[in-house]
Amino acid sequence: MTTSLRTRLSLTYILTAAIIVFLILVLTNAFVVKHFREYVKENEELRNKQIVLMMSGQYMGDYRWNTQGIETIGVSCLESGIILRVKDISGKVIWDAKTHNDGMCQRIITNMTQNSGGIIGTKDSSYIEIPYDININLKKVGTVEIGTYGSNYLNEHDIAFVNAFNGVLLVVGIFSLILALLLGTFMASRISNPISKVIRAAKSISKGFYSERITQKANTLEIIELTSTVNNLAESLEKQETLRKRLTADVAHELRTPLATLQSHIEAMLDGIWEADANRLQSCHDEITRISKMVGDLEKLTKYESESLRLEREIFDLSELTDRLVQNFQGQFQSKSLQLVFGGEISMIDADRDKISQVVINLLSNALKYTPEGGRVEVQVDNSNGKAKLIVKDNGIGIPKEDLPYIFERFYRADKSRTRMTGGAGIGLTICKAIVDAHGGTIEVESSNENGTKFIVSFNSP
Ligand code: ADP
Repeated sequence: MTTSLRTRLSLTYILTAAIIVFLILVLTNAFVVKHFREYVKENEELRNKQIVLMMSGQYMGDYRWNTQGIETIGVSCLESGIILRVKDISGKVIWDAKTHNDGMCQRIITNMTQNSGGIIGTKDSSYIEIPYDININLKKVGTVEIGTYGSNYLNEHDIAFVNAFNGVLLVVGIFSLILALLLGTFMASRISNPISKVIRAAKSISKGFYSERITQKANTLEIIELTSTVNNLAESLEKQETLRKRLTADVAHELRTPLATLQSHIEAMLDGIWEADANRLQSCHDEITRISKMVGDLEKLTKYESESLRLEREIFDLSELTDRLVQNFQGQFQSKSLQLVFGGEISMIDADRDKISQVVINLLSNALKYTPEGGRVEVQVDNSNGKAKLIVKDNGIGIPKEDLPYIFERFYRADKSRTRMTGGAGIGLTICKAIVDAHGGTIEVESSNENGTKFIVSFNSP
Protein backbone atom coordinates (compact mmCIF):
# COMPACT_ATOMS: atom_id res chain seq x y z
CA MET A 1 0.00 0.00 0.00
CA THR A 2 1.44 3.36 -0.95
CA THR A 3 0.71 6.25 1.38
CA SER A 4 1.95 9.81 1.35
CA LEU A 5 4.90 10.83 3.50
CA ARG A 6 2.61 13.17 5.43
CA THR A 7 0.12 10.40 6.34
CA ARG A 8 2.92 8.02 7.19
CA LEU A 9 4.69 10.51 9.48
CA SER A 10 1.45 11.57 11.18
CA LEU A 11 0.45 7.95 11.78
CA THR A 12 3.88 7.12 13.19
CA TYR A 13 3.66 10.04 15.60
CA ILE A 14 0.17 9.10 16.75
CA LEU A 15 1.03 5.41 17.10
CA THR A 16 4.16 6.19 19.12
CA ALA A 17 2.23 8.57 21.35
CA ALA A 18 -0.60 6.04 21.78
CA ILE A 19 1.82 3.30 22.80
CA ILE A 20 3.64 5.59 25.24
CA VAL A 21 0.39 6.87 26.76
CA PHE A 22 -0.95 3.31 27.08
CA LEU A 23 2.25 2.10 28.77
CA ILE A 24 2.27 5.07 31.15
CA LEU A 25 -1.39 4.45 31.99
CA VAL A 26 -0.94 0.76 32.73
CA LEU A 27 2.40 1.00 34.54
CA THR A 28 1.50 4.04 36.66
CA ASN A 29 -1.84 2.55 37.51
CA ALA A 30 -0.36 -0.77 38.55
CA PHE A 31 2.38 0.90 40.57
CA VAL A 32 0.23 3.47 42.30
CA VAL A 33 -2.66 1.08 42.99
CA LYS A 34 -0.25 -1.46 44.51
CA HIS A 35 1.25 1.10 46.86
CA PHE A 36 -2.11 2.60 47.64
CA ARG A 37 -3.43 -0.83 48.53
CA GLU A 38 -0.54 -1.40 50.93
CA TYR A 39 -1.24 1.97 52.47
CA VAL A 40 -4.95 1.10 52.90
CA LYS A 41 -4.03 -2.25 54.44
CA GLU A 42 -1.66 -0.63 56.93
CA ASN A 43 -4.33 1.90 57.83
CA GLU A 44 -6.84 -0.88 58.40
CA GLU A 45 -4.38 -2.75 60.59
CA LEU A 46 -3.76 0.40 62.66
CA ARG A 47 -7.47 1.03 63.00
CA ASN A 48 -8.07 -2.55 64.13
CA LYS A 49 -5.34 -2.27 66.76
CA GLN A 50 -6.97 0.88 68.07
CA ILE A 51 -10.31 -0.92 68.32
CA VAL A 52 -8.62 -3.77 70.24
CA LEU A 53 -6.98 -1.21 72.56
CA MET A 54 -10.29 0.50 73.18
CA MET A 55 -11.92 -2.86 73.89
CA SER A 56 -9.19 -3.79 76.37
CA GLY A 57 -10.06 -0.58 78.18
CA GLN A 58 -13.54 -1.99 78.79
CA TYR A 59 -12.20 -4.96 80.78
CA MET A 60 -12.83 -4.37 84.45
CA GLY A 61 -10.99 -7.43 85.81
CA ASP A 62 -12.27 -10.72 87.20
CA TYR A 63 -13.96 -11.61 83.93
CA ARG A 64 -16.17 -8.55 84.08
CA TRP A 65 -16.70 -6.20 81.18
CA ASN A 66 -18.14 -2.74 80.79
CA THR A 67 -20.86 -3.88 78.38
CA GLN A 68 -22.17 -0.36 78.08
CA GLY A 69 -18.76 0.86 76.87
CA ILE A 70 -18.39 -2.09 74.51
CA GLU A 71 -21.76 -1.32 72.93
CA THR A 72 -20.91 2.36 72.50
CA ILE A 73 -17.66 1.44 70.70
CA GLY A 74 -19.43 -1.30 68.65
CA VAL A 75 -22.23 1.05 67.54
CA SER A 76 -19.86 3.82 66.62
CA CYS A 77 -17.77 1.32 64.63
CA LEU A 78 -20.91 0.03 62.93
CA GLU A 79 -21.82 3.56 61.94
CA SER A 80 -18.41 3.83 60.32
CA GLY A 81 -19.03 0.57 58.47
CA ILE A 82 -17.04 -1.74 60.78
CA ILE A 83 -18.71 -4.94 61.96
CA LEU A 84 -17.53 -6.18 65.38
CA ARG A 85 -18.12 -9.14 67.60
CA VAL A 86 -16.67 -9.18 71.14
CA LYS A 87 -16.20 -12.45 73.05
CA ASP A 88 -14.91 -13.13 76.53
CA ILE A 89 -12.17 -15.66 77.30
CA SER A 90 -14.65 -18.56 77.38
CA GLY A 91 -15.90 -17.65 73.91
CA LYS A 92 -19.19 -16.25 75.09
CA VAL A 93 -20.41 -13.38 72.94
CA ILE A 94 -20.51 -10.09 74.86
CA TRP A 95 -21.59 -7.87 72.00
CA ASP A 96 -22.35 -8.71 68.31
CA ALA A 97 -23.05 -6.09 65.65
CA LYS A 98 -25.18 -8.56 63.72
CA THR A 99 -27.35 -9.20 66.73
CA HIS A 100 -27.52 -5.48 67.38
CA ASN A 101 -28.54 -4.51 63.84
CA ASP A 102 -28.38 -7.30 61.28
CA GLY A 103 -29.97 -5.23 58.50
CA MET A 104 -27.25 -2.64 58.74
CA CYS A 105 -24.55 -5.32 58.80
CA GLN A 106 -25.93 -6.89 55.63
CA ARG A 107 -25.94 -3.50 53.93
CA ILE A 108 -22.33 -2.96 54.94
CA ILE A 109 -21.35 -6.40 53.59
CA THR A 110 -23.15 -5.79 50.27
CA ASN A 111 -21.44 -2.44 50.00
CA MET A 112 -18.06 -4.05 50.63
CA THR A 113 -18.76 -6.65 47.92
CA GLN A 114 -19.46 -3.92 45.42
CA ASN A 115 -16.41 -1.89 46.39
CA SER A 116 -14.00 -4.77 46.27
CA GLY A 117 -14.30 -5.02 42.45
CA GLY A 118 -14.13 -2.41 39.76
CA ILE A 119 -10.53 -1.32 39.96
CA ILE A 120 -7.52 -2.65 38.16
CA GLY A 121 -5.80 -5.50 39.93
CA THR A 122 -8.62 -6.58 42.24
CA LYS A 123 -9.28 -10.24 42.72
CA ASP A 124 -12.36 -11.97 43.99
CA SER A 125 -12.44 -12.26 47.74
CA SER A 126 -15.11 -12.75 50.33
CA TYR A 127 -16.24 -11.30 53.65
CA ILE A 128 -14.28 -12.62 56.62
CA GLU A 129 -14.03 -11.80 60.30
CA ILE A 130 -10.53 -11.60 61.72
CA PRO A 131 -10.15 -12.35 65.41
CA TYR A 132 -7.84 -10.17 67.52
CA ASP A 133 -6.88 -11.11 71.08
CA ILE A 134 -7.69 -8.62 73.84
CA ASN A 135 -4.75 -8.83 76.26
CA ILE A 136 -4.30 -7.33 79.69
CA ASN A 137 -0.74 -7.61 81.02
CA LEU A 138 0.11 -10.11 78.30
CA LYS A 139 -2.81 -12.26 79.33
CA LYS A 140 -5.68 -12.91 76.97
CA VAL A 141 -9.01 -11.82 78.41
CA GLY A 142 -11.20 -11.92 75.34
CA THR A 143 -11.44 -11.63 71.53
CA VAL A 144 -12.74 -9.01 69.17
CA GLU A 145 -13.65 -10.18 65.65
CA ILE A 146 -13.51 -7.44 63.07
CA GLY A 147 -15.25 -7.93 59.73
CA THR A 148 -13.27 -7.21 56.59
CA TYR A 149 -13.51 -8.02 52.97
CA GLY A 150 -10.28 -9.86 52.30
CA SER A 151 -7.27 -7.97 51.05
CA ASN A 152 -9.04 -6.25 48.18
CA TYR A 153 -11.49 -4.16 50.03
CA LEU A 154 -11.35 -0.41 49.54
CA ASN A 155 -13.77 1.89 51.20
CA GLU A 156 -15.63 4.59 49.29
CA HIS A 157 -12.95 7.21 49.92
CA ASP A 158 -10.24 4.89 48.69
CA ILE A 159 -12.23 4.06 45.55
CA ALA A 160 -12.88 7.74 44.93
CA PHE A 161 -9.14 8.42 45.16
CA VAL A 162 -8.24 5.61 42.71
CA ASN A 163 -10.96 6.72 40.30
CA ALA A 164 -9.85 10.35 40.47
CA PHE A 165 -6.28 9.25 39.86
CA ASN A 166 -7.34 7.16 36.84
CA GLY A 167 -9.41 10.08 35.59
CA VAL A 168 -6.37 12.39 35.70
CA LEU A 169 -4.28 9.79 33.88
CA LEU A 170 -6.97 9.43 31.22
CA VAL A 171 -7.22 13.18 30.67
CA VAL A 172 -3.41 13.42 30.45
CA GLY A 173 -3.46 10.49 27.98
CA ILE A 174 -6.11 12.04 25.75
CA PHE A 175 -4.34 15.40 25.91
CA SER A 176 -1.02 13.75 24.94
CA LEU A 177 -2.69 11.98 22.00
CA ILE A 178 -4.22 15.22 20.71
CA LEU A 179 -0.86 16.96 21.16
CA ALA A 180 0.90 14.12 19.27
CA LEU A 181 -1.68 14.37 16.49
CA LEU A 182 -1.22 18.14 16.15
CA LEU A 183 2.56 17.98 16.46
CA GLY A 184 2.74 15.02 14.06
CA THR A 185 0.62 16.79 11.45
CA PHE A 186 2.66 19.97 11.86
CA MET A 187 6.04 18.20 11.60
CA ALA A 188 4.83 16.04 8.72
CA SER A 189 3.69 19.08 6.78
CA ARG A 190 6.99 20.87 7.52
CA ILE A 191 8.88 17.95 6.01
CA SER A 192 6.53 17.03 3.21
CA ASN A 193 5.72 20.56 2.01
CA PRO A 194 9.20 21.32 0.64
CA ILE A 195 9.41 17.82 -0.83
CA SER A 196 6.06 18.36 -2.59
CA LYS A 197 7.45 21.63 -3.95
CA VAL A 198 10.56 19.84 -5.23
CA ILE A 199 8.34 17.23 -6.88
CA ARG A 200 6.20 19.92 -8.53
CA ALA A 201 9.31 21.73 -9.78
CA ALA A 202 10.91 18.49 -11.02
CA LYS A 203 7.70 17.58 -12.87
CA SER A 204 7.59 20.98 -14.50
CA ILE A 205 11.29 20.69 -15.45
CA SER A 206 10.66 17.26 -16.94
CA LYS A 207 7.96 18.86 -19.12
CA GLY A 208 10.58 21.21 -20.55
CA PHE A 209 10.15 24.28 -18.34
CA TYR A 210 13.87 24.49 -17.67
CA SER A 211 13.72 27.96 -16.17
CA GLU A 212 11.74 26.61 -13.20
CA ARG A 213 13.64 26.91 -9.89
CA ILE A 214 12.86 26.03 -6.30
CA THR A 215 13.18 29.22 -4.30
CA GLN A 216 11.74 28.11 -0.99
CA LYS A 217 14.23 28.08 1.88
CA ALA A 218 14.48 24.92 3.97
CA ASN A 219 16.33 24.15 7.17
CA THR A 220 16.61 20.38 6.82
CA LEU A 221 20.02 19.40 5.45
CA GLU A 222 18.74 16.68 3.12
CA ILE A 223 16.01 18.94 1.72
CA ILE A 224 18.51 21.75 1.12
CA GLU A 225 20.70 19.27 -0.80
CA LEU A 226 17.73 17.91 -2.74
CA THR A 227 16.60 21.44 -3.65
CA SER A 228 20.03 22.51 -4.83
CA THR A 229 20.49 19.27 -6.80
CA VAL A 230 17.20 19.79 -8.62
CA ASN A 231 18.08 23.46 -9.23
CA ASN A 232 21.50 22.50 -10.60
CA LEU A 233 19.88 19.87 -12.80
CA ALA A 234 17.45 22.45 -14.15
CA GLU A 235 20.30 24.88 -14.73
CA SER A 236 22.39 22.42 -16.73
CA LEU A 237 19.32 21.32 -18.70
CA GLU A 238 18.55 24.97 -19.43
CA LYS A 239 22.15 25.54 -20.52
CA GLN A 240 22.07 22.48 -22.77
CA GLU A 241 18.76 23.58 -24.24
CA THR A 242 20.08 27.09 -24.97
CA LEU A 243 23.19 25.60 -26.55
CA ARG A 244 21.08 23.27 -28.69
CA LYS A 245 18.84 26.10 -29.87
CA ARG A 246 21.78 28.40 -30.59
CA LEU A 247 23.65 25.67 -32.40
CA THR A 248 20.69 24.84 -34.64
CA ALA A 249 20.11 28.50 -35.45
CA ASP A 250 23.83 29.17 -36.09
CA VAL A 251 24.27 26.10 -38.25
CA ALA A 252 21.24 26.97 -40.35
CA HIS A 253 22.52 30.50 -40.73
CA GLU A 254 26.08 29.43 -41.65
CA LEU A 255 25.02 26.75 -44.11
CA ARG A 256 22.53 28.92 -45.95
CA THR A 257 25.13 31.03 -47.83
CA PRO A 258 27.45 28.27 -49.16
CA LEU A 259 24.48 26.04 -50.00
CA ALA A 260 22.72 28.86 -51.87
CA THR A 261 25.96 29.55 -53.81
CA LEU A 262 26.33 25.86 -54.65
CA GLN A 263 22.68 25.60 -55.68
CA SER A 264 22.82 28.62 -58.01
CA HIS A 265 26.12 27.49 -59.56
CA ILE A 266 24.91 23.96 -60.23
CA GLU A 267 21.51 25.15 -61.52
CA ALA A 268 23.26 27.55 -63.91
CA MET A 269 25.43 24.71 -65.16
CA LEU A 270 22.44 22.35 -65.48
CA ASP A 271 20.46 24.97 -67.42
CA GLY A 272 23.40 25.42 -69.74
CA ILE A 273 23.82 29.08 -68.76
CA TRP A 274 27.28 28.27 -67.44
CA GLU A 275 29.65 25.78 -68.85
CA ALA A 276 30.74 23.18 -66.28
CA ASP A 277 34.41 23.96 -66.70
CA ALA A 278 37.24 23.09 -64.32
CA ASN A 279 37.21 26.53 -62.68
CA ARG A 280 33.51 26.47 -61.85
CA LEU A 281 33.67 22.89 -60.61
CA GLN A 282 36.70 23.86 -58.48
CA SER A 283 34.72 26.72 -56.96
CA CYS A 284 31.87 24.30 -56.11
CA HIS A 285 34.41 21.92 -54.67
CA ASP A 286 35.90 24.68 -52.46
CA GLU A 287 32.46 25.52 -51.18
CA ILE A 288 31.83 21.88 -50.29
CA THR A 289 35.23 21.63 -48.58
CA ARG A 290 34.37 24.67 -46.51
CA ILE A 291 31.05 23.15 -45.48
CA SER A 292 32.72 19.89 -44.43
CA LYS A 293 35.37 21.77 -42.47
CA MET A 294 32.68 23.71 -40.72
CA VAL A 295 30.79 20.53 -39.88
CA GLY A 296 34.04 19.09 -38.49
CA ASP A 297 34.62 22.21 -36.37
CA LEU A 298 31.04 22.06 -35.14
CA GLU A 299 31.48 18.48 -34.10
CA LYS A 300 34.55 19.48 -32.11
CA LEU A 301 32.76 22.41 -30.49
CA THR A 302 29.78 20.26 -29.51
CA LYS A 303 32.18 17.75 -28.04
CA TYR A 304 34.07 20.34 -26.00
CA GLU A 305 30.98 22.16 -24.85
CA SER A 306 29.23 19.01 -23.73
CA GLU A 307 32.39 17.50 -22.27
CA SER A 308 33.54 20.66 -20.61
CA LEU A 309 32.21 19.41 -17.31
CA ARG A 310 34.07 16.13 -17.66
CA LEU A 311 37.73 17.06 -17.36
CA GLU A 312 40.38 14.44 -16.94
CA ARG A 313 42.62 16.54 -14.80
CA GLU A 314 46.27 15.86 -14.09
CA ILE A 315 49.12 18.05 -12.92
CA PHE A 316 51.61 18.80 -15.69
CA ASP A 317 53.97 21.48 -16.97
CA LEU A 318 52.22 23.86 -19.38
CA SER A 319 55.58 25.06 -20.67
CA GLU A 320 56.73 21.59 -21.70
CA LEU A 321 53.42 20.87 -23.47
CA THR A 322 53.49 24.20 -25.35
CA ASP A 323 57.14 23.70 -26.34
CA ARG A 324 56.29 20.34 -27.92
CA LEU A 325 53.32 21.77 -29.85
CA VAL A 326 55.38 24.74 -31.03
CA GLN A 327 57.93 22.30 -32.44
CA ASN A 328 55.16 20.45 -34.31
CA PHE A 329 54.11 23.73 -35.92
CA GLN A 330 57.63 24.82 -36.94
CA GLY A 331 57.32 23.17 -40.40
CA GLN A 332 54.08 25.00 -41.31
CA PHE A 333 55.46 28.35 -40.08
CA GLN A 334 58.65 27.92 -42.03
CA SER A 335 56.82 27.12 -45.25
CA LYS A 336 55.01 30.46 -44.83
CA SER A 337 58.36 32.14 -44.01
CA LEU A 338 57.19 32.94 -40.51
CA GLN A 339 59.39 33.02 -37.47
CA LEU A 340 58.04 31.04 -34.49
CA VAL A 341 59.90 31.43 -31.19
CA PHE A 342 59.22 29.91 -27.80
CA GLY A 343 60.36 30.85 -24.32
CA GLY A 344 59.08 29.41 -21.08
CA GLU A 345 59.62 28.42 -17.47
CA ILE A 346 58.20 25.46 -15.58
CA SER A 347 54.54 26.28 -14.91
CA MET A 348 52.52 23.49 -13.38
CA ILE A 349 48.77 23.36 -13.91
CA ASP A 350 46.01 20.94 -12.89
CA ALA A 351 44.13 20.48 -16.14
CA ASP A 352 42.99 18.17 -18.92
CA ARG A 353 46.11 17.77 -21.08
CA ASP A 354 44.25 17.02 -24.36
CA LYS A 355 41.93 19.96 -24.03
CA ILE A 356 44.74 22.39 -23.14
CA SER A 357 46.64 21.10 -26.23
CA GLN A 358 43.60 22.04 -28.31
CA VAL A 359 43.75 25.62 -26.94
CA VAL A 360 47.45 25.97 -27.84
CA ILE A 361 46.86 24.45 -31.30
CA ASN A 362 43.96 26.82 -32.06
CA LEU A 363 45.94 29.89 -30.99
CA LEU A 364 48.98 28.82 -33.02
CA SER A 365 46.78 28.06 -36.09
CA ASN A 366 45.24 31.52 -35.86
CA ALA A 367 48.64 33.18 -35.55
CA LEU A 368 49.74 31.20 -38.60
CA LYS A 369 46.60 32.12 -40.55
CA TYR A 370 46.46 35.80 -39.70
CA THR A 371 50.17 36.71 -39.88
CA PRO A 372 51.42 37.56 -43.35
CA GLU A 373 54.62 36.10 -44.75
CA GLY A 374 57.81 37.31 -43.08
CA GLY A 375 56.03 37.88 -39.79
CA ARG A 376 56.99 36.78 -36.31
CA VAL A 377 55.09 34.84 -33.68
CA GLU A 378 56.28 34.67 -30.05
CA VAL A 379 54.99 32.06 -27.65
CA GLN A 380 55.72 32.38 -23.96
CA VAL A 381 54.80 30.49 -20.78
CA ASP A 382 55.47 31.96 -17.38
CA ASN A 383 54.52 31.49 -13.81
CA SER A 384 53.84 34.42 -11.47
CA ASN A 385 51.47 35.40 -8.65
CA GLY A 386 50.06 31.87 -8.40
CA LYS A 387 49.06 31.87 -12.07
CA ALA A 388 50.41 29.99 -15.05
CA LYS A 389 50.23 32.16 -18.18
CA LEU A 390 50.40 31.26 -21.87
CA ILE A 391 50.98 34.19 -24.24
CA VAL A 392 50.74 33.88 -28.04
CA LYS A 393 51.77 37.13 -29.73
CA ASP A 394 51.94 37.82 -33.46
CA ASN A 395 52.65 40.87 -35.55
CA GLY A 396 49.95 39.98 -38.04
CA ILE A 397 46.93 41.77 -39.42
CA GLY A 398 45.31 42.34 -36.02
CA ILE A 399 41.64 42.48 -35.13
CA PRO A 400 39.60 45.67 -35.54
CA LYS A 401 38.66 47.26 -32.20
CA GLU A 402 34.92 46.92 -32.83
CA ASP A 403 35.26 43.16 -33.40
CA LEU A 404 37.28 42.43 -30.25
CA PRO A 405 34.30 41.91 -27.89
CA TYR A 406 32.80 39.28 -30.22
CA ILE A 407 35.70 37.15 -31.40
CA PHE A 408 35.01 34.41 -28.83
CA GLU A 409 31.41 34.13 -30.06
CA ARG A 410 30.53 31.14 -32.15
CA PHE A 411 30.85 31.71 -35.95
CA TYR A 412 32.13 35.24 -35.41
CA ARG A 413 34.72 36.31 -37.95
CA ALA A 414 36.36 39.70 -37.76
CA ASP A 415 36.37 40.15 -41.52
CA LYS A 416 34.04 37.72 -43.24
CA SER A 417 35.41 37.97 -46.77
CA ARG A 418 38.99 37.84 -45.54
CA THR A 419 38.44 34.86 -43.26
CA ARG A 420 36.51 32.98 -45.87
CA MET A 421 39.64 32.88 -47.89
CA THR A 422 41.59 31.52 -44.92
CA GLY A 423 38.91 28.88 -44.45
CA GLY A 424 37.96 29.76 -40.86
CA ALA A 425 34.44 29.19 -39.63
CA GLY A 426 34.73 31.32 -36.49
CA ILE A 427 34.71 28.40 -34.07
CA GLY A 428 38.36 28.02 -33.01
CA LEU A 429 38.31 30.73 -30.34
CA THR A 430 34.86 29.63 -29.11
CA ILE A 431 36.40 26.20 -28.46
CA CYS A 432 39.36 27.84 -26.66
CA LYS A 433 37.07 29.84 -24.40
CA ALA A 434 34.85 26.84 -23.61
CA ILE A 435 37.91 24.83 -22.55
CA VAL A 436 39.52 27.64 -20.53
CA ASP A 437 36.21 28.43 -18.77
CA ALA A 438 35.74 24.78 -17.84
CA HIS A 439 39.15 24.92 -16.13
CA GLY A 440 38.23 28.09 -14.25
CA GLY A 441 40.84 30.05 -16.20
CA THR A 442 40.65 33.26 -18.27
CA ILE A 443 41.42 34.12 -21.89
CA GLU A 444 42.06 37.72 -22.94
CA VAL A 445 43.01 39.40 -26.17
CA GLU A 446 44.88 42.59 -27.02
CA SER A 447 45.00 43.56 -30.66
CA SER A 448 45.45 46.37 -33.09
CA ASN A 449 45.84 46.44 -36.84
CA GLU A 450 49.26 48.04 -36.43
CA ASN A 451 50.86 45.87 -33.76
CA GLY A 452 49.19 42.50 -34.32
CA THR A 453 47.45 40.31 -31.78
CA LYS A 454 48.27 38.98 -28.31
CA PHE A 455 46.29 36.21 -26.59
CA ILE A 456 46.84 35.69 -22.85
CA VAL A 457 45.52 32.53 -21.24
CA SER A 458 45.80 32.19 -17.41
CA PHE A 459 45.24 29.25 -15.09
CA ASN A 460 45.48 29.04 -11.34
CA SER A 461 48.54 27.10 -10.25
CA PRO A 462 47.67 23.95 -8.27
P1 ADP B 1 38.41 31.11 -37.44
O1 ADP B 1 38.17 29.69 -37.68
O2 ADP B 1 37.66 32.02 -38.34
O3 ADP B 1 39.86 31.46 -37.31
P2 ADP B 1 38.33 31.76 -34.67
O4 ADP B 1 37.22 31.59 -33.70
O5 ADP B 1 39.57 31.04 -34.40
O6 ADP B 1 37.74 31.36 -36.07
O7 ADP B 1 38.62 33.28 -34.77
C1 ADP B 1 37.57 34.20 -34.88
C2 ADP B 1 38.03 35.42 -35.64
O8 ADP B 1 38.95 36.16 -34.85
C3 ADP B 1 38.74 35.07 -36.89
O9 ADP B 1 37.83 34.93 -37.95
C4 ADP B 1 39.63 36.29 -37.07
O10 ADP B 1 38.94 37.31 -37.72
C5 ADP B 1 39.93 36.74 -35.67
N1 ADP B 1 41.28 36.28 -35.24
C6 ADP B 1 41.54 35.23 -34.44
N2 ADP B 1 42.86 35.12 -34.20
C7 ADP B 1 43.45 36.14 -34.83
C8 ADP B 1 44.82 36.58 -34.96
N3 ADP B 1 45.83 35.96 -34.35
N4 ADP B 1 45.03 37.69 -35.70
C9 ADP B 1 44.04 38.34 -36.30
N5 ADP B 1 42.74 37.98 -36.23
C10 ADP B 1 42.46 36.89 -35.51
